[in-house]
Amino acid sequence: MNFPSDHTPGSSDVWFLPLGGTGEIGMNMNLYGHKGQWLMVDCGVMFDKNRLQPDGSNSVVSADPHFIALRRQRLVGLVITHAHEDHIGAVPYLWKELKCPVYTTPFTAEILRRKLSNLGLLDSVPIIEVDTGEVQQIGHFGIEWLAITHSLPEPHALLLCVGNIRIFHTADWKMDPDPVLGEAFNAKPFKHMASKNITAMVCDSTNAIVPGHSVSEGQCFDGLLSLIGQAKGRVIVACFGSNVARLITLSRIANFTNRYMALYGRSLRNMVSAARRTDHWPDDARVADGRHLGYLPRHEVLGVATGSQGEPKAALKRMAMGNFRDLELDPGDTVIFSSKVIPGNEEAVAVLITQLRQRDVIVIEAADSELPIHASGHPCQDELRQLYRWVQPKVAIPVHGTLEHINANASIAREVGIPTQLRGENGDLYRLAPVVGIQRKAIKTGRLYHDLR
Ligand SMILES: [Zn+2]
Ligand SMILES: [Zn+2]
Repeated sequence: MNFPSDHTPGSSDVWFLPLGGTGEIGMNMNLYGHKGQWLMVDCGVMFDKNRLQPDGSNSVVSADPHFIALRRQRLVGLVITHAHEDHIGAVPYLWKELKCPVYTTPFTAEILRRKLSNLGLLDSVPIIEVDTGEVQQIGHFGIEWLAITHSLPEPHALLLCVGNIRIFHTADWKMDPDPVLGEAFNAKPFKHMASKNITAMVCDSTNAIVPGHSVSEGQCFDGLLSLIGQAKGRVIVACFGSNVARLITLSRIANFTNRYMALYGRSLRNMVSAARRTDHWPDDARVADGRHLGYLPRHEVLGVATGSQGEPKAALKRMAMGNFRDLELDPGDTVIFSSKVIPGNEEAVAVLITQLRQRDVIVIEAADSELPIHASGHPCQDELRQLYRWVQPKVAIPVHGTLEHINANASIAREVGIPTQLRGENGDLYRLAPVVGIQRKAIKTGRLYHDLR
């Protein structure tokens, strides 16, 4: 059966239609369709290193929402699972095409408000804040917000009740027994899921090619403490701005090693201020003013800097080039990458490291450290296996990955006995009811470029 010509789901249809993030990593945009209505889950961007702006900064790219913009009177809401750029970043740019209520939890809402206010949109976007565990009805879509662990505050998975079909949308997740910030991974709701008769599990594939179990965020403490404890001069740690747990770990290490921690880079300061506002930042995690650290003895300085991917305007790049006003690096200072290189950024990072070494700065990458100093926020193969075994969906739908990741995720699902795996990409229509199947290239998808503001 083909897609109806008006592209409207009927009362017995339950559809999943990814516009972005399936067949690629980044810029997630998913649609669920039922009974004449659509619900969007996540609306993200990725950086486009091939389109540098005249000032050297990157543009961002999102999925083209054309399909849903054309029928936006049928779009009942946008649900945001968590505050990573690849899930939230496009909302300010695409808002005028969507104009629907946005549902998310307090920390993600706080990040979104800051983005909207930068573009003067704060008062025009209706944001409905929800709490973990809450169940809501948005049009014909019932949504339960399930706490999960990932690599920033308040990550959520969703249990969708659509007609008599239940869909488990994992969003980004891992099983972390010690996430440092927030509750440890709680298996209970997921162990109960099989009894709920789940039709489809739409699942993160980012690390589906990685064997074993992800490193816990809590494990990074020992590795970072040992490196920072041994360092003689200043220490600068580069990490992802959104990883608030890592920043809390570093503030504790600053205490242990009698250093003062400061944050270099606007996105880091913004994240910590949002975390403070939403009660995710502990009172004892002290942050010094970065402008003052330059006056301290070198062994008392612990800077945390943006720019782990070699971004041209970020604090670390400017330090490497010797034109960062607040802090200068001297020979014998140490830069630690508590991060991984995102594919595509290898060259920019290599250039950055060369520049740092030319200043006789000691550079330590995550792979150089004996103990872990970075933890991915995504599930490895053992975690995927375990979750499939608990949830036992009839259909596995791997998303959030390239075709290679999607195939690896589907193989794991098959191996643990999930009867059907639907492997597809953006623009494919996944039918979950009345009959399960996939229609390739049901709609045209595309990309939109936005100037980063
Ligand atoms: Zn994420
Ligand atoms: Zn993601």
